[in-house]
Amino acid sequence: MLDLDPSNEIEDRIKLEYGDLCAIYSNTHKKWVFGRVSNVMVGDEGRFYEIHYRINGNFISKKVGDDDKCIRRYDPFDSDIELEIICPCGTQMIRRIFAEAYGRLGEKEEKDTPATGTCDHCGKSLSAKEVVYHCPKEKTEIHTGGYDICILCTVT
Ligand SMILES: [Zn+2]
Ligand SMILES: [Zn+2]
Repeated sequence: MLDLDPSNEIEDRIKLEYGDLCAIYSNTHKKWVFGRVSNVMVGDEGRFYEIHYRINGNFISKKVGDDDKCIRRYDPFDSDIELEIICPCGTQMIRRIFAEAYGRLGEKEEKDTPATGTCDHCGKSLSAKEVVYHCPKEKTEIHTGGYDICILCTVT
């Protein structure tokens, strides 16, 4: 008798929970974006996810299977993802580790005084190692304390 190892069977399947971030491919726009699981359905053929994402300012909801090639695990530095996020000051924002965005890490890591702050969109606190979208203009008249938004705010 062949012993089926269930872990082999689900190798290609991606396990996500409600609220998780992931990367999702838009067939319409031919690009990867960040998405968020808004529903998990478990059926006989595996798990299905409803993924919410935003593309060109439109909110989209898509149902995908857990073995679907159009989703993959969340990686904040996913090199296929280039979001065009425009800061309220009109500048294109760039993806950065929060602490590096303001030059706090690098050659001399200041472990004792980690850069922390909050997302300028949702107010969530940001850790030094968190990946954010950062306004390269930093301090301007429009945002005197810099402008950073968390990845979640790029999705929802
Ligand atoms: Zn700005
Ligand atoms: Zn946020």
